[in-house]
Amino acid sequence: MMYENSLDFARQLDANDPLRSFRERFHSPRQAGKSLIYLCGNSLGLQPKTAREALERELDTWQNLGVEGWFHQAEATEQPWLSYHESCKADLAQIVGAEPSEVCPMNALTVNLHLLLASFYRPTEKRYKILTIKGDFPSDQYALETHVKHRGLNPADTIIEIAPRPNDRLIHVTDIQHALAEHADELALVWMSGLNYYTGQLYNMAAITETVRQHCRRGNGRSQWDIPVGFDLAHAIGNVPLQLHDWGVDFATWCSYKYLNGGPGAVSGVFVHEKHHDKNLPRLAGWWGYREDERFAMTPGFVPASGADGWQVSTPNILALALHRTSLRITAEAGMTALRQKSQRLTGFLAHILAPFTDIQLLTPDDPNQRGSQLSLLVRKDGKVLFQHLTAQGIIGDWREPDCIRLAPAPLYNSFEDVWRVGEALTQFFQTRKEGV
Ligand SMILES: *Cc1c(COP(=O)(O)O)cnc(C)c1O
Repeated sequence: MMYENSLDFARQLDANDPLRSFRERFHSPRQAGKSLIYLCGNSLGLQPKTAREALERELDTWQNLGVEGWFHQAEATEQPWLSYHESCKADLAQIVGAEPSEVCPMNALTVNLHLLLASFYRPTEKRYKILTIKGDFPSDQYALETHVKHRGLNPADTIIEIAPRPNDRLIHVTDIQHALAEHADELALVWMSGLNYYTGQLYNMAAITETVRQHCRRGNGRSQWDIPVGFDLAHAIGNVPLQLHDWGVDFATWCSYKYLNGGPGAVSGVFVHEKHHDKNLPRLAGWWGYREDERFAMTPGFVPASGADGWQVSTPNILALALHRTSLRITAEAGMTALRQKSQRLTGFLAHILAPFTDIQLLTPDDPNQRGSQLSLLVRKDGKVLFQHLTAQGIIGDWREPDCIRLAPAPLYNSFEDVWRVGEALTQFFQTRKEGV
């Protein structure tokens, strides 16, 4: 697409945007009576206008039915709490490209990662290493280290981190493929982000998963083995189309407060591929993961529910699930194909707007297929001052030490005009600075 840096052009794109009505379904944060330009949906998505009502409905049920809310609802069309999680499944499955039985909303991301590592990190004497990416989210690194130590191993010679090449902040898929080839014989697990939170780089999850499978199939006279591949989808879910089932990804988890707009600390979710459902994998079990039809028999000896549900541990937080469910609906209704199309245009427009500013470099790849909604701006000189200027102009992004501003136009509620205004604020900043010297 050819872009023009003008307000008319931006407004024309907005007028032709098939998703433009979705903006009205969110509350826009305000300051001093003015709407802010919110480009921080990669950190905390905005509040859907249906959130309050969804919450109040469950508060009413609690108020009116008490414990009976687990089995009944005030309105027959509503979901009793006992099966409430099931009413999120169709939308979740659509958004991550899975079967409904492969997904379950639960807990928070890092908690889920611990649960999944307990099942999928199965080191043996020969095969115990974990391949991951240097510079991925620290919480994931802590979780990986925990599991390595719990099995009596030393993180330093167990966790292999693929680092960017010198003078580069990106990871090349070929580097991942080389590392896989080099270490295939000793690997027990591959775990990485699908989209890097800092650089905004989107990895080719299909290619990475397929490469791992090829190494497993190759065999070389050895018996067949499998190296589970898992992804942290915190920044990928609701941002880029996913086909977890078809890609053959073994497991994944995500958070729902970023692009899914589920609210601060929203319920996370897990994906466990169908091929693992009947294996009775070891896990950190709790009663909520017990076969649903017999859970309340309260018998000793854990029998997991089939599918991703079998990884649940505790009673779900219904109020949080209500927020999650209502926001999921919006993303599913818009559909990832339409969202991706608008996102690529919005982000492309932002890249076009940023291009003339020579003091700003992009950390995020230029290639639209290697990024989602976020652009990470590397500002070597006075980055923090620039960030403060943008904030004062009502443009909300986020600042990452020492030199990075992240801006993420979200296709559900950001407009092309929002993006155009960023250019205006930048022009003003650099103009004033030039005049100042
Ligand atoms: C936001 C984020 C998390 C957050 O983890 P929580 O357990 O939900 O606090 C984890 N991983 C990545 C990559 C993230 O971006």
